[in-house]
Amino acid sequence: MKSSGEGVEKPEEDTVEPDDVTVPSPPASVSPLPACYQTSARRDSFKTSVTGRNRSKIRSKLGKDEKNTGHKQESDPGIQEIVAANANAGKPLNRIDNERQIQIKGTGKILQGKTETNGNTVVLQQRPKEIKVCPHFKEDGNKVVKRRKAVTVDTSKAKTSSEALKLSIRQLKWKEFPVGRRSACDIYWHGVSFHDNDHILSGQVNKFPGMIEMLRKINLSRAVRTMQELFPEEYNFYPRSWILPEEFQLFSTQIRLAKESDASLKPTFIVKPDGGSQGDGIFLIRDPSDLRIIAGSQTKQSVVQEYIDKPLLIDKLKFDIRLYVLVKSLEPLEIYIAKEGLSRFCTEPYQEPSQKNLNHVFMHLTNYSLNVQSGNFVHSDSLSSGSKRTFSSVLFRLASKGVDIKKVWSDIISLVIKTVIALVPELKVYYQADIPPGKPGPSCFQILGFDIPIDERTTKPVSPGVFEYVPSPVDEEVKVGVIRDTLRLMDPAQKKSPMSNPEQQQEDILAEVGSPERGPGERGDALPSLCLKQVFPKYTKQFNYLRSVERITALFLRFLGVRGTMRLGPTGFRTFIRNCKLSNSNLSMASVDILYIDITRRWAGMLPDSREAGMALQAFVEAFFYLAQRRFKSLSLREQVLSLLEVCEAQLENQAGGVPGASLAEDGNSSSRRSVSCSRTHPGRPQHPNHASAQFCSPAVQRRASSQDYRLHQRHRPTQTQKASVEN
Ligand code: ADP
Repeated sequence: MKSSGEGVEKPEEDTVEPDDVTVPSPPASVSPLPACYQTSARRDSFKTSVTGRNRSKIRSKLGKDEKNTGHKQESDPGIQEIVAANANAGKPLNRIDNERQIQIKGTGKILQGKTETNGNTVVLQQRPKEIKVCPHFKEDGNKVVKRRKAVTVDTSKAKTSSEALKLSIRQLKWKEFPVGRRSACDIYWHGVSFHDNDHILSGQVNKFPGMIEMLRKINLSRAVRTMQELFPEEYNFYPRSWILPEEFQLFSTQIRLAKESDASLKPTFIVKPDGGSQGDGIFLIRDPSDLRIIAGSQTKQSVVQEYIDKPLLIDKLKFDIRLYVLVKSLEPLEIYIAKEGLSRFCTEPYQEPSQKNLNHVFMHLTNYSLNVQSGNFVHSDSLSSGSKRTFSSVLFRLASKGVDIKKVWSDIISLVIKTVIALVPELKVYYQADIPPGKPGPSCFQILGFDIPIDERTTKPVSPGVFEYVPSPVDEEVKVGVIRDTLRLMDPAQKKSPMSNPEQQQEDILAEVGSPERGPGERGDALPSLCLKQVFPKYTKQFNYLRSVERITALFLRFLGVRGTMRLGPTGFRTFIRNCKLSNSNLSMASVDILYIDITRRWAGMLPDSREAGMALQAFVEAFFYLAQRRFKSLSLREQVLSLLEVCEAQLENQAGGVPGASLAEDGNSSSRRSVSCSRTHPGRPQHPNHASAQFCSPAVQRRASSQDYRLHQRHRPTQTQKASVEN
């Protein structure tokens, strides 16, 4: 990345077209689900139990209350009965009718081909019966091929996901350990949090440490807000939000000023409790003063957000799209999106918010768990009608209305990548604290759910509600596909020989699945193509420039010093200033100490559940912004930050060591690509900082106060340059 003085690097593409978006064919009475999903719950039975209690022992306070887990577990006892009545549990999901022999070009192998009912040919390799198979090796033409062991999955902590998971493991012909295993497993499936089992030293766990915390509404808002400060246009999909109670005054002032300057403004706001899920505790208001009336003087920890009052409607109903996303790894960042999702519909015709209808939850909230209680909820066998439909059937309806659905899909991909990019910095801090480099520990992956409404004015997806994925009746049709394909992508054999080309990788996974090394009966035959599509690193070029906070995080992690901690001590902060040579006649070490104390104290007040003393990542980022603003006065904040990053990374470049993520370049071509391979410094015991008398005025407070003329609905203005969007 070039320094701001040289001009900020821009992404190469302006608009993008995801390669595999097709206008869906008209939904018929047949399920419009693509083949990769049709192996799911429709033919198989799974019970869906609802627990979702957070047993995270470490940082989460959420464990005591299921509602506070941040999970969108949606319960429906009726569905359990319907599902239980399904008699086909455990059967191979893709029925194979005809068998024939085909030869794969160049391999000389005779394989068994089977034709599915849909006419597709599925290639299965046939175990040559006449060849004696020794326990580990088998003869395959001239080659001796090592026979692979079945992948092992510990499901003892899986809880709610267990039935869909069991089915997925069966389909893959992997080996499940439902009560755990003495020796290590390849994959550990946790129902709630990374900390469901704290004694894992190897393999892969399906949860990231800290994800529960990061998906709480306040933390998500903070993470996105930091990105909005640097990249306001790119992050304008997220409605303007305020954190309550601490920003109540700011909220009141900004709305008052906005209304004073435009008397026609009649905004609505949605208030969401911090740890809430399933729409619980959510209410709408028209003015900040309503908060005092509804919530009383003791406003709970919550987020108040501009309400998207003109959502795109279908059949006069508000709806949103629920999509599943796999974060396969943080380092390197790998993101996959499920090609099919669900649409959740409201059950009362939509009207723009008015004092009369503000409390009509069936009109304003799309949560399944709420709407299923309405007498108007339409249970339908067809996935293209009713109160719960497939994403593809909704895309079809939108296409017929003239909506550019390729653009919608491309915007959704963009929104998902940007949201994950906003979460990654904090997740990396949690990761390093829980799984310190150099110590034995597992790697992690996680399925997330995104709830995405579409703004009618811009036909752009907006306001993602992100939540941890816990399968529930609402996603019956897609969950096995998502879980099974997540497992396929996490197959340790794939990790050992990573492919640079994701498409190739996916093909290889498919070939692998039917390979004779595990045999058709051992390893999952006739699996459909993957329903998960890689979007990152595929679209690295378009989005990598957004990862500046991650580069700041790499510096933070470098100077964190003590393993297992998430807070930077004063000495660590001083070492950062010294090693990056940021102190000079304009910035004395005394004022550095004051900066540290001031920001750290203020953030300690804003992070009430923090158990550690010291400077949190958000506080460090704020300090970094402040230092950047001081040093590079005339530039935009983004340019200031990039310039300071250049300075720091250049200073550290020649110092030995390694920092997770420190080698992040802004984009592949940037001259600023720095391989800052930094070892952790050990700053030693914290010193007592110098309590100098000068008062430091927080830069964030200054920035937010100076933006009080912010106009509501800024995001609805057409963006001149949608810098980060998706293209082939
Ligand atoms: P929860 O986690 O409790 O489900 P969400 O943030 O997902 O909370 O919000 C619940 C529902 O409220 C969403 O599914 C959506 O229908 C509606 N909603 C949320 N935020 C907004 C917004 N800013 N504008 C309009 N509707 C919203």
